[in-house]
Amino acid sequence: MTEAARTCSGIALEDLGAIRDRVRLRKPQRVTFHSWAFHQLGTFLAYKARRAGVPLVYVDPAYTSQECADCHHIDKNNRVDQALFICRNCGVVAHADRNASRNIAARGEAAWIAGRESRVPATP
Ligand SMILES: [Zn+2]
Repeated sequence: MTEAARTCSGIALEDLGAIRDRVRLRKPQRVTFHSWAFHQLGTFLAYKARRAGVPLVYVDPAYTSQECADCHHIDKNNRVDQALFICRNCGVVAHADRNASRNIAARGEAAWIAGRESRVPATP
């Protein structure tokens, strides 16, 4: 958070409701734990971001772990295992979490820019 404030950047998070729904479909027994954890994390980050004056946006989490952050090719086979990402299109090799976080950051930036533009009155 200090890093985000110092560098005048923002923070993007996957939409929490959608994550909870995805988890529920896969592992019913763990729903309570996951939804509690994600909710706590989101609330905590929102509080810290507001105090630090750092923009916080929630983004559509669809395919963030399957999309290549470099060429934006989406393929479920890109995600080799929990840790490894190899793009089937451009061949880039990355840590899966690092790749997904780059996608989330890019979507956050796009959402932030779109939000700013939407507040500009439309010209007739
Ligand atoms: Zn790629």
